[in-house]
This record gives sequence, C-alpha cells and structure tokens, in this order.
Amino acid sequence: MNKTGLLIVISGPSGTGKGTICKALVHRKDYFVSISATTRNPRVGEVDGESYYFLTKEDFIDRINKDDFLEHAEVYGNYYGTPKSKVLETIESGKDVILEIDIQGALKVKENYPNGVFIFILPPSMEELKNRITKRGTETEESLMTRFKCAYKEINYISKYNYAVVNDTVEEAVNKIESIVLAEKCRVDRIKTTTILDSKEGLIHEQLYD
Ligand code: ADP
Ligand code: 5GP
Repeated sequence: MNKTGLLIVISGPSGTGKGTICKALVHRKDYFVSISATTRNPRVGEVDGESYYFLTKEDFIDRINKDDFLEHAEVYGNYYGTPKSKVLETIESGKDVILEIDIQGALKVKENYPNGVFIFILPPSMEELKNRITKRGTETEESLMTRFKCAYKEINYISKYNYAVVNDTVEEAVNKIESIVLAEKCRVDRIKTTTILDSKEGLIHEQLYD
C-alpha cells in the first residue's frame, strides 16, 4: 500500500505548551516537525535553522512572493511562515508531519489541506496560562499582556478544529495526541486500499477507495 503521511497541526494560544508537547512527541516517535521561518528576534538559546529560520522582513516578503510558504501569518507583530516544499515532500514520502502554528495559519492550512488533523491545545485554566508564559521568562510585560489578551479571542476558534487537548500534564497531552493520530490512521476514508488475507484462501478482499 502506498501510504502518505499525516499532516498534524498543533495550534492554540501562546504559552499553552505547544512547543513542549511537540518536543515530547518527537522523543516518542519519529515525526517530522516543520521548522518555521520568522522575522522575530531569536530568544536566548534559540539556534537559526533549529528553532526557526530567522529572516529579515525583506527576505520573508521575498519568500512570500516566491510562493515558498504553505501558509504565513502576522502573529504578535512579527511574520511567521511554514516552508512548503519540505513539508509536502515529507508527507509524500509517507512520514507524518507536525506543524506548530498559530490559529490564523491553522485555518489557512485547513482551507487548502482539509485532510489534515487539526488539534487545539488548551491550558488547564487562564490563570495557569498566564503563569506558564510568565515562568517561561521570554516575554516583556507588554508582549506577555498582548499574548494573554489574544488568548481570550483565540479560544473562540476552537470549533474550527477536529480535536481539543487540555495540556494538564505533558505526558497526558502527548498520550491523547498519540491516540488521535492512531485513530486517524484507522479512518476508512483515509484508507486507499484494504487487503484482507486468509491463511488458506490467500487474498479474499481488496477494495479501492477514492
Ligand atoms: P507554546 O509553545 O504554546 O508557546 P511552551 O511549550 O513554550 O508554549 O510552554 C510555555 C511554558 O509552559 C514553558 O515554560 C513550559 O516549560 C511550560 N509548560 C508546558 N507544558 C506544561 C505543563 N503541562 N505543565 C507545566 N508547565 C508546562
Ligand atoms: P513564538 O514567538 O512564541 O515562538 O511563536 C508565536 C506564535 O507563532 C505561536 O503561536 C506559534 O505557534 C506561532 N507560529 C510559529 N511558527 C509559525 C508558522 O510557521 N506559521 C504560523 N502561522 N504561526 C507560527
């Protein structure tokens, strides 16, 4: 069977734990996590080509004009985008791809790739969300408040997603996402060919779906 990989979109407000969850997912299974491009400044410890591809605004716009992005969006005053070719090649090769992107980006991807799996990560509470962004220590007071205020609006988009996962503990959240991925792979409308083999009669059923 010629299987393509799943496009798994992990999205939700800043500080809910998307990055932490994606790292934990990769530890468990060999997913391909797309590295985004951004115009925001690197944080302490972030490495170009690993955390993000850090681009100038001019380079970013040049890449938009070359149609290099699967989606791009302005988030909290900076541009972010998903490089297209690597993602599509990897899916085609049969490997599952994870995109960790904001809500605007997720909705654009959904328009063009409705077969993707769209997962919204929720914090256990808004108070805990604020604690987590604060404890991460990466934002100025102003940026923290922008992200926190945006979170209230962003949560309204949850109905556009296929699944909601509360990030109470990282382990539980990752368990839920792995279960979602497993269930999605069993969906009849994703199966192109089913082959049922019988030990005596050999091939007894082969069905092709559109
Ligand atoms: P996002 O990528 O959604 O902006 P991060 O993965 O950077 O969020 O997580 C924000 C902060 O919350 C980080 O300091 C991270 O260590 C912490 N964090 C993530 N998940 C949990 C969790 N389940 N319990 C406690 N802290 C968490
Ligand atoms: P941060 O600055 O905290 O790394 O990311 C800010 C927001 O941008 C997060 O919600 C993150 O998921 C989102 N983001 C990261 N990469 C992309 C991308 O390629 N496209 C879009 N649309 N959002 C992204």
